[in-house]
Amino acid sequence: MEKTDRAFIRKIRYAVQWSVFFMVIYAGTSFYFFVRAVERGAVPPVSRTPSIEGFMPIGGLMAFKLWITNGIFDSIHPAALIIFIGALALSTLLKKSFCGWICPVGTLSDGAWRTGRRILGRNFAIPRRLDYPLRSLKYILTAFFLFIILVKMSPAGITEFLNTPYWKVADVKLLKFFTEMSPATGITLGLLTGFSLLYKNFWCRYLCPYGGLLGLLSVLSPVKIRRTGANCIHCGSCARNCPALLPVDKKTEIRSPECTGCLTCVSHCPARGALDAALAGRKIIRPGIFIAAVVSLFFGLILAARLTGRWHSSVTYEELSSLVPFINSLSHP
Ligand code: SF4
Ligand code: SF4
Repeated sequence: MEKTDRAFIRKIRYAVQWSVFFMVIYAGTSFYFFVRAVERGAVPPVSRTPSIEGFMPIGGLMAFKLWITNGIFDSIHPAALIIFIGALALSTLLKKSFCGWICPVGTLSDGAWRTGRRILGRNFAIPRRLDYPLRSLKYILTAFFLFIILVKMSPAGITEFLNTPYWKVADVKLLKFFTEMSPATGITLGLLTGFSLLYKNFWCRYLCPYGGLLGLLSVLSPVKIRRTGANCIHCGSCARNCPALLPVDKKTEIRSPECTGCLTCVSHCPARGALDAALAGRKIIRPGIFIAAVVSLFFGLILAARLTGRWHSSVTYEELSSLVPFINSLSHP
């Protein structure tokens, strides 16, 4: 692959990541004005924005279980379920590409360590003996949520939860989490930002249970990064540039649940035919095809949901208006 083509892959990745990020910022801002109008009893200048429900993956997991076990598709926050299904589908088919290409938190995390590197001239590495147990934290959190929701909660219990006033205003609660931030939340977010500037993908690598779940699923993905030893010139550029700190130059195939399919390694490999995304270990997938598959699968699903009426909440403006004044007294049942 030519140097210009390799640089182009990186540019496309930034373009996809930051486009999604700014779409989410736009959705969040619109939702803020929507909620303000609801609080004042005025006519909202914009409609309720479903895409922010992507930040409710625990509810998405509950709705997913209900859909699989009872065939009931949550109509209160259907976008949470659609985005959750999209993330699961991407991870099962195309490595942890939801994290590497779509997730706005992943994008922020990526931007933070790059900024840190620009300011300090380098990023730091957590010692190996600490790195491994710390990385297990996110899988422990994943196991906790899976146990509570998939094992302990019955479909009837989930149905009950998804019909509570709490779930009906869960997106408003989420907004208030940021707009009316408590000192403890502010300090925690500040610390996370600090660590994210110093260490590559601190949140994603050590703490995100959503990423933990998607990583475990991504082990099933038929698409993996594959190194062809005969063409490799052993320059180590792939490993040096891997945001997940994987020893790409030492492996024939990257099976790690930490690989996000970001293609950064491929885009830094100077040897033609040495490093590729490959299907079932054999068929090479050109970067353009991989990227098109990620984007079209995820946004195609959202488009299909919109066209089939499974994107917008069924909670009416009147119902929401009657709940929002009491939002602080609505707690998790
Ligand atoms: S191995 Fe390659 S695709 Fe996987 S995370 Fe590292 S740089 Fe990205
Ligand atoms: S960047 Fe390419 S040539 Fe260099 S070690 Fe990695 S696979 Fe081999």
